[in-house]
Amino acid sequence: MMLPMANPTHHNYEEYMTLWEEHGIETSTRSKRQSLRKSKSRQVPSPKIKSLEDIRTWLGECKRCGLCEERNKIVFGSGNSNAKLMFIGEGPGAEEDKTGFPFVGRAGTLLTKIIEAMGFTREDVYIANIVKCRPPGNRVPAPEEIESCVPFLKAQIEMIQPKMIVALGLTAASTLTGNDSTMGLLRGRFHPLAWDSKRSLMATYHPAYLLRNPAAKKIVWEDMKLVVKQLKGH
Ligand code: SF4
Repeated sequence: MMLPMANPTHHNYEEYMTLWEEHGIETSTRSKRQSLRKSKSRQVPSPKIKSLEDIRTWLGECKRCGLCEERNKIVFGSGNSNAKLMFIGEGPGAEEDKTGFPFVGRAGTLLTKIIEAMGFTREDVYIANIVKCRPPGNRVPAPEEIESCVPFLKAQIEMIQPKMIVALGLTAASTLTGNDSTMGLLRGRFHPLAWDSKRSLMATYHPAYLLRNPAAKKIVWEDMKLVVKQLKGH
């Protein structure tokens, strides 16, 4: 069954909330929702969605967009359900599609090194992607594919409540900030999450880009130092 599209930048708020309600997720009353929209507050699925497992159950064997056709495994996300720090990439690659886990290929090994250099382990953080099924040939996911998949990522963020999100690559950065600028302009500073201005996000280059352009590792490390400094302030 196809769900109605949900706008990742949250312009179509009513439709997004209706989508949740149609799938058994209780939300605020409509008048309350309108005030939430005005204040850009969080939208918490309650009380039926109580865990990441509930969100995974809601996702099911998803066929809400065309990316289901060639995928082997849905890559839901993995890590600490109480993580302070969340990393969000673009979409699964070949290794992730085979295993069902995010960032397990060469780019994943590099991400693990970055996480460890920041003083964390992979078990401390949560890692997910904008889309949960591999785009054929690792192409950039289409806007309608992102629209179909992002409500589940939003629900994961709402459930985990990370202090900080790192957007890896331009697709994640533009989706999560609602800003279509270049990575050169987005990286190196904090942005509010598009639908929750209280939640902070750092944009930086994707590890796969770093494998092709090792000189950019230094830039990413500068960005990650800012993230660590900000996290220490919490
Ligand atoms: S990418 Fe997301 S919305 Fe599309 S089929 Fe996969 S899980 Fe469903």
